[in-house]
Amino acid sequence: MEIMLENLFPILTQQIHGKKLVYLDNAATTQKPVAVIEALNNAYTSWNANVHRGVHYLSQVATRHHEEARQKVADFLGAKSSDEIIFTKGTTDSINMLAFSFGERFVHEGDEIIVSYLEHHSNIVPWQMLCERKKAILRVIPLRDDLSVDIEAFESLLSTKTRLISIAHVSNVLGIINPIRQIIQIAHRHNVPVSIDAAQSVPHIPVNVQELDCDFLSFSAHKMYGPTGIGVLYGKQELLNQMVPYQGGGEMINHVRFEQTTYNTLPYKFEAGTPDFVGSYGLAAAIDFINQTGRDKIARYEEELTTYMEQQLAAIDDVVVYAAGQPKAGAVSFNVGNIHPFDIGTLLDQQGIAVRTGHHCAEPLIDYLHIPGTVRASVAVYNNKSDIDLFISALKKSISMLS
Ligand code: PLP
Repeated sequence: MEIMLENLFPILTQQIHGKKLVYLDNAATTQKPVAVIEALNNAYTSWNANVHRGVHYLSQVATRHHEEARQKVADFLGAKSSDEIIFTKGTTDSINMLAFSFGERFVHEGDEIIVSYLEHHSNIVPWQMLCERKKAILRVIPLRDDLSVDIEAFESLLSTKTRLISIAHVSNVLGIINPIRQIIQIAHRHNVPVSIDAAQSVPHIPVNVQELDCDFLSFSAHKMYGPTGIGVLYGKQELLNQMVPYQGGGEMINHVRFEQTTYNTLPYKFEAGTPDFVGSYGLAAAIDFINQTGRDKIARYEEELTTYMEQQLAAIDDVVVYAAGQPKAGAVSFNVGNIHPFDIGTLLDQQGIAVRTGHHCAEPLIDYLHIPGTVRASVAVYNNKSDIDLFISALKKSISMLS
C-alpha cells in the first residue's frame, strides 16, 4: 500500500543541504497539508473576530467555527458531548490543567498518583509538582525486560490511596503501544480514574474515548497535521464538573462580583481568556484531512512503514533497536554501537534526513536504559518506503564515516 500525499505538503518538496528532504521527525511535530495552511489563512483573511462576546457578524462566524471545531473533536474522539472537550495549548497544557484542577479537588496528603517509566516529562513533572504541593506520593510502574509496562507490578501499586493513573498511550521514545484498555479496566476495578497521554497515539491510530472508557485524554494538534499552540483535554463530564478551574479570567465566569464570583459551565469553566479560535479551525481542518485519508488506512500504512524501517535497521551490524519486535505506532528508537546518537543525527542531517536524537524529554526512561540517548526516526502518513530506503542508506554511510 502506498499513500501518495507528499505533494499535499508544500514543505516536503524542498531540498536540504542539496538533498531531498526526508522528514522523519514526526513524533516531534508533523508537517501541515495545504488544507490546514489555507484554513489558517482563510481565518485571518475572511472572518477573524473575537468569539462568544460579539453580536456583530464576524464574531458570530468566528464563534460558529470555534464551536463546530469543538464538535468535530468530540466526534473524532467519540466523546459523549462537546462539553467534554476543553481547548488547551497542547498536551503539556492539558496535563498541567488536569494535575491542578483534579489535584485541588481530589488529591490530599498521603494520596498516590501512578505514572510509568515510559512517560514524557509532560506526564511526570506536573504530577511531581502536584505531589509536592499536596504532600502526595508519585508511584512509578516499572518495565519488563522487553520494555513493556509491567501489568502485574502496576496492579500491585494500586491501593486505596491511589487517586489517578496517568499513562502514555504510545511511548514517544520507543513507539510501543501500551495496553491501556487493560490498564483502564484494572484501574476501574479499583475505582481509580485514568488519564491517557495520547500525544503519540491520536495522530497514528484510531482512539475512541468511550470505547476505551478513559476518564481523561490529552493531545496536541501540531503532532497530527494541525497548527501549533492548540490541543485538547478530554474529560468525563461528571469528573470535570467536580474539578476547580485552572485559570481565572474572562470566559470562565458566570458573574463576577467583588464579594463572590461564580463560574461558567463546561467547557468554558476551563477556558479563561480569548481561546485560540484560529487554531481550533486549523485543528478541524487537520481532523478533516485525517478522516478523508482514513484513520484505519493511516494506521495500517504506518504500521507497514515502521515494521519495514525496524527490519531494515535491525539488519545493520551493531544497530540496537529498542523494544524490537513489539507493535509500534510511528516511532522507532535505536543506537549504533558506541557512536553517540548526536553524531549520527548530524551526519544524517547533512544528507537531508531529519531525525531526532537525545533523551526525547523522557530522561527517566533513558536513565533506565543506561544510555546517553537514542536516535529516533518517526513516520507520518506522507512518508513512504523510498524515504526509509534513503534514510537507511544515509545511515549506513554515516556509520562507515564514524567507524
Ligand atoms: N506527551 C508525549 C507522549 C509527547 O510525545 C509529547 C511531545 O513530544 C508531549 C506529551 C508534549 O506535547 P506538547 O509539547 O505538544 O505539549
